[in-house]
Formats: sequence, structure tokens, C-alpha cells
Amino acid sequence: MERLDALRRQLQGEGRDAFLVSNPLNVAYVSGFTGTAGLLLITEKEAYLLTDFRYVEQAQQQAPAFKTIDAKGKLWQVAHTLLVDAGCKILTVEADHLTVDTYEKIVAALDELVVEGIASPVAKLRTIKSPAEIAAITAAQKLTDAAFTHILSFIKPGMREREIALELEFMMRKNGASGLSFEMIVGSGSRAALPHGVASAKELLVGDAVVLDFGCIVNGYCSDMTRTVFVGQASAKQREVYQAVLAAQQAALDKLRAGLSGQQADALARDVLVAAGFGEQFGHGLGHGVGREIHEAPRLSPTAEDILATGMIVTVEPGVYLPGEFGVRIEDMVVIEENGIRNITVSSKELFCV
Ligand code: ZN
Ligand code: ZN
Repeated sequence: MERLDALRRQLQGEGRDAFLVSNPLNVAYVSGFTGTAGLLLITEKEAYLLTDFRYVEQAQQQAPAFKTIDAKGKLWQVAHTLLVDAGCKILTVEADHLTVDTYEKIVAALDELVVEGIASPVAKLRTIKSPAEIAAITAAQKLTDAAFTHILSFIKPGMREREIALELEFMMRKNGASGLSFEMIVGSGSRAALPHGVASAKELLVGDAVVLDFGCIVNGYCSDMTRTVFVGQASAKQREVYQAVLAAQQAALDKLRAGLSGQQADALARDVLVAAGFGEQFGHGLGHGVGREIHEAPRLSPTAEDILATGMIVTVEPGVYLPGEFGVRIEDMVVIEENGIRNITVSSKELFCV
């Protein structure tokens, strides 16, 4: 109810009289309904959950603040009637989720009403995590940290990247994760220079940097962390890059707090890497929000205008990538607080040679 009220306040502030929530993650967030076929139609006075006969009972139980309607396969005709009865002229839809095909069907069915697509306002509501959401993400990160501790004594030269990915996944699932929050990245040697190099059949060689970027899901919420370790030994250049990335991350962790823009947050780390001569090799943003999705608002990047607020959970993940040689990324997840952050990633960041 609290989330529905907050969404209504936001819609009313923008003068929107009807809003359709179609993204299942947003449907679940606003209403509590977790079925795969359900749409929310929210007007100034009414809140409907349109579904089909398979989900009527579940919808009534999970989303008591909404009037459940079995649309009997005539979703858009039903929506049209409800909107006309409520005197609505414009229906706002989630442009960042609807397909063009569905949009065209809605436009055709709504006849005289105007259909306007915007980036979903639910994304903004989802940035501020409740204590229960923070607890779920913290629990997921705890399993992720435990898997990292385990993998330090597991990695041996000659192993394939895929074996390491499998072991990390096995440990997290064995300890209670329901799945992975994204396809795991295990990139070794020159593959460590690929910011998103998923685990391959490559064997680990002595002297390789290995970027491990992974996370799991607990109670529907994701975790995300990265550590870079070295096989057998690290060269002087690898150590130099590692220390630069670590210093950049520490600078951001020291000064991040509510009130900064995504751009200002990004600069905290970027300035350190630029000063160290690696500015060009840090080709992505500093971080992102984490929640039901692995990447959600806010963004921390040179172009991000999002303002950080208390209760957001974001990653802090500077990286340096030297194509053909190696790469280093270090990523923690933190809760934004008024005067700083609370780091929920507990794994050590000392340079490990495994
Ligand atoms: Zn990550
Ligand atoms: Zn990340």
C-alpha cells in the first residue's frame, strides 16, 4: 500500500491520470503479485490488477490493495472500459519495458485515448531499499563472500575458467542461493582485459590475472562483487595497476554519501585513475544500483544525473583494462547513508596470489 501511495503521489505530481505497470518486476514491487501474467492499471481513485483465470486467486491473496479482474483474454478492451469509466484521457505506459507490438495493440484498443510512454517511475521508487530488501541483499552478499573465500584455496594453475565458475555457483547454491544474479565472469590472462568476459574453456596459467565477477540471488534480491587474483605470482606492472584500482575504489568509498550525483560519485574514483595515468583504460561507469535486478537505477557514471540518497544500494567497481595484456577490477556493494556508506562486501582486498 505504501508503495502504491508513493507511486500515485509521483504520478499526480506529474499530472498523469492513469498509469499501466507492465514490467513483472515492477508489478511485483508495487502490488506484491508475483505471477507471470498480471498488469497494474492505476488511476487517481482505483487500482486494478488485470490477469487471467489462472492467477485470480493468487492475485487476490498477494495484492489485497488492488481489485483483481479476470480480463478473459480481452486485456486492452477491459482496460479501455475502465479508463473511460474513470474519465481518463491519457494512459501512461512503461516505455522501457513494453514491446512495440504491445504498444501498437494498446493504441489500437484505446481508441480516443492518448498513450504516452515514459521511463517507468517505479524504477526510481525501487532505488530506495526497505530494511527487508537490504537484509536480502546482505544475505546474498554473505554467500558470495563465502564462495570467494572458498575459491582462494580452490584455484590452481591448469584449471579452466569454467571449473572455477562452476565451483563458485555450487558453493553459493549449496549455501542457500536460489540462483546466480547474472552470468558469471571469470576472465584470465588477456581475457581479464574483457570487462564482461564470461567463463570460457581457457586454462589458467602462472602469471595470469583472473577477474572474478559474480553474485547470487536470495529472496529475489541480487548480490554483485568482483575480485582480481593472480595465479602463482603478480608482475610489477600487475601490482601497479592493482594498487591504482584499489586506491581509486578506496577514494570513492571514503567520500561517497547521500546528496552526491552519479557523476560526482564516479569522479571520486576516476580522478585517482586519471592521475595514475590509467584514465583512458577505465572505460565504464563506477557503479550501478542493485536490487531485484543486477543492474538498476541509480547509475554512477560520467554522465549520470541521479542523486544518491539514503537507503540506496550501489556497487563501487573501478577497473583498468589493458587490451592483450590483463585487467583488474575490484567491486564492493554499499548502502548509501547520510554521512557516508556501509560496505556490505566483507572479502579482503589484499593482492592474492593463488
Ligand atoms: Zn559485478
Ligand atoms: Zn556490478
